[in-house]
Amino acid sequence: MRVKLDSKKLCSEFVKKIEEISGQDLMSCYQCGKCSAGCPMVFAMDILPNQIIRLVQLGLDEEIGKSKTIWLCASCITCGARCPRGVDLSKVMEALRQLTLRKNEDTVELSKMAQETIKELPQIALVSGFRKFTG
Ligand code: SF4
Ligand code: SF4
Repeated sequence: MRVKLDSKKLCSEFVKKIEEISGQDLMSCYQCGKCSAGCPMVFAMDILPNQIIRLVQLGLDEEIGKSKTIWLCASCITCGARCPRGVDLSKVMEALRQLTLRKNEDTVELSKMAQETIKELPQIALVSGFRKFTG
């Protein structure tokens, strides 16, 4: 993953906002990767969970916005249980989703999903999907 760093954005308002919403100390993460190693959703993610927290640390919100990872997180809290620094990454993912939803940026338009797919999805997937997909 190649990204262009903007030093002005380091420790930006974005970082403070994510810390405020999630209640997590983002800078305590030292990139051990244990969160990603245990995450059951990494097979589908384009950016690993530990990489997401690194991007947040660096204030690279636009890079996170291009990724599907925060929407694929299942909030299973496996990452938080494994983290040696006590970082609950599921809360960071939720904070990132909340910030995106506050901007009214839809990630998936349910109206464009095939009716067959909607019928086959488990109800719980639709309920959680509505929470994530609506702006
Ligand atoms: S397990 Fe914790 S310290 Fe390790 S990379 Fe993940 S968030 Fe950072
Ligand atoms: S809470 Fe999300 S990021 Fe953490 S292990 Fe579960 S699916 Fe992965």
